Amino acid sequence: MLFALTCAFCIPILIGMERDSKGLAIVIRSVKIRDNDRLLTLFSPSLGILQAVAYGARKSIRSIKAPLYTEGNFSLEKTRRGTTLKDIDVISTHSGIMEDLDRMQAATLFSDLVLTARSAEPELYALYASALDALEDTGFERVVTQFIVHFLTLEGLSGDYASCPVCGRGYGEEEILGFSASEGVAVCHDCDTMDGALLLPPRARAYLRRSIEIPFRDALSLRVSEEQGHRIARYLLRTLPFSFPGKLRSLEYGIWKL
Ligand SMILES: [Zn+2]
Repeated sequence: MLFALTCAFCIPILIGMERDSKGLAIVIRSVKIRDNDRLLTLFSPSLGILQAVAYGARKSIRSIKAPLYTEGNFSLEKTRRGTTLKDIDVISTHSGIMEDLDRMQAATLFSDLVLTARSAEPELYALYASALDALEDTGFERVVTQFIVHFLTLEGLSGDYASCPVCGRGYGEEEILGFSASEGVAVCHDCDTMDGALLLPPRARAYLRRSIEIPFRDALSLRVSEEQGHRIARYLLRTLPFSFPGKLRSLEYGIWKL
């Protein structure tokens, strides 16, 4: 009898605990469904990558605004119809990103990389959140460069810019690097498979080498001229499809001419 009583009370409580979840997250994608509702994809270091519906204004339900790139502590409720957004303690809406097309394109690329990699590691979350913060007050090409090199390093897809990943030879001080399409990394002149189509000069290599030795935020303030910074960002965007195995729609259909 006691057993039955205990269970009658404890089961609803346990189910209730499973139904609600709360965690730090960023709205990484937002798609309109029905007139006022949106299907959000959330990137959370504790909950992973998940989808939740944010209901728009209607009589019975309180609407909660969660624009794209909003970071905060999200309260979610699991119902029979799926996960819904109950509340957010907003940390930042990153609204500055939406003021500029290049910033928007950069944020779309970062989201595309995270979602295609299907990784929700806390280190990747920290990088993604810092990159969105940086887009609001730092030149977008600098942020793009540092996001790509740090992302590829986290995913184990980057060379170290110190020695050739194919033949193992250490690079000379003034050496111009080539690129290996099959390996997806910068390589020495002898291992180049692109007939010199993707060259990396010595100063650009030194900048990238230093970039991956230090944290993302520190790397953003490494000294580089505007012209050099532009060339390095362009180099990384052109080599990214070889370095990253997934299909990146943001680059294929994006606004940047590469
Ligand atoms: Zn080599």
